Amino acid sequence: MATRNDSFGLNTTAIHAGEAPDTATGASAPPLHMSSTFVTDELAGFSAHDIEEGTGFIYSRWGNPTVAMLERKISALERTEDCLCLASGMAATNAIFLTFLSAGDHAVISDVSYAGVAELARDTLPRLGINVTLVDMSDLDAVSQAIRPDTRLVHCESPVNPIGRLTDLAAVSKLAHNVGALVSCDATFASPIGQKCKDLGIDLIMHSVTKYIGGHGDAIGGAVAGKADLIGKMRAEAAIHHGAIMSPFNAWLIARGAATLPIRMKAHQHNAKQVAEWLEGQETVTRVIYPGLRSHPQHDLAQRQMTNMSGMIAFQVGNVDQGRTTAQALIDRLEIIHYAVSLGHHRSLIFWMETDSLMDTSFRLEGKARESYRAFAGDGVFRFSVGLEDADDLIADLARVL
Ligand SMILES: *Cc1c(COP(=O)(O)O)cnc(C)c1O
Repeated sequence: MATRNDSFGLNTTAIHAGEAPDTATGASAPPLHMSSTFVTDELAGFSAHDIEEGTGFIYSRWGNPTVAMLERKISALERTEDCLCLASGMAATNAIFLTFLSAGDHAVISDVSYAGVAELARDTLPRLGINVTLVDMSDLDAVSQAIRPDTRLVHCESPVNPIGRLTDLAAVSKLAHNVGALVSCDATFASPIGQKCKDLGIDLIMHSVTKYIGGHGDAIGGAVAGKADLIGKMRAEAAIHHGAIMSPFNAWLIARGAATLPIRMKAHQHNAKQVAEWLEGQETVTRVIYPGLRSHPQHDLAQRQMTNMSGMIAFQVGNVDQGRTTAQALIDRLEIIHYAVSLGHHRSLIFWMETDSLMDTSFRLEGKARESYRAFAGDGVFRFSVGLEDADDLIADLARVL
């Protein structure tokens, strides 16, 4: 199973895809190749343009066997032809933007996204002469109006960090493809288990593998999966030229995590549903947003599009003052759940995100876009990444405060 085989189920794929017993030693676990360079018996050129199908390993900025093992595993999970792993989720997003957009091009990007991506879209891309239209991707009319004949890329994120708003990925893909634009989706919240991005028409499936795919909070990385020609272009730009490569050690750790991704996602979903239902019953909690709850404003879309509801919950506790007081009480009193950023780990993580401060720094939304954000987030959300502890213990921990 060193190569991809579409006929295996998700658990088998997660465990075996990309790896095989080591031919030199018989080791069952994949080897960790911490080598920057590789001895070669061929005369070859030293340029990204010299890399062809079947070129062996030359130098680890071009490719490394342990990183390649993780790339095969993720592309097998996404059922895509290829995958590129990079130093972080942000490096993966940059790789998409800087490979497929040039000065004068137009891109449509979700007006709510991971904060770092939001700032990239608002500051860095315009500085490079790239025209960006920010749009609420849950509003298909708005997306349709934002897309122009010269649009080259449509970038969405579903469910969106931090408010859990969804994008109808099949519909947005169709709108983008009508003008010949590529569609990329940051699928970090859903993981490869939570939605079948390729089947929904997404050309470039991006993950912060720091989150669910790695799953253990010990390594940062990013990945983009898609057709081989697109990924090959990104490898030449983002890895070989921009140098944003993943360390083989991180690839090894993340691959070990990825092996249990399908069973972890089931457990995340199971715990999150119980916690979300408990939260909905608390008087102090004013709003719970979880795609697996009937009360999610896009629950129908969630059921149609998502194959696992993931472990990400957003909830609100009253106004901004009540939110701040509750956040401080969580910091002081939680015994199990860590008050920390990041998500998708086996350990539960919670973090409060005040709406006004996010608006000032990252999102800078006005008018209707700001109203749409507030309709989900109110004055601020507690982003709760429900981990793999016992749901009863997590609920008891929250009950110390709520
Ligand atoms: C964390 C995150 C990123 C950034 O990933 P890093 O690995 O931290 O660089 C991008 N998008 C989403 C949705 C994220 O949660």
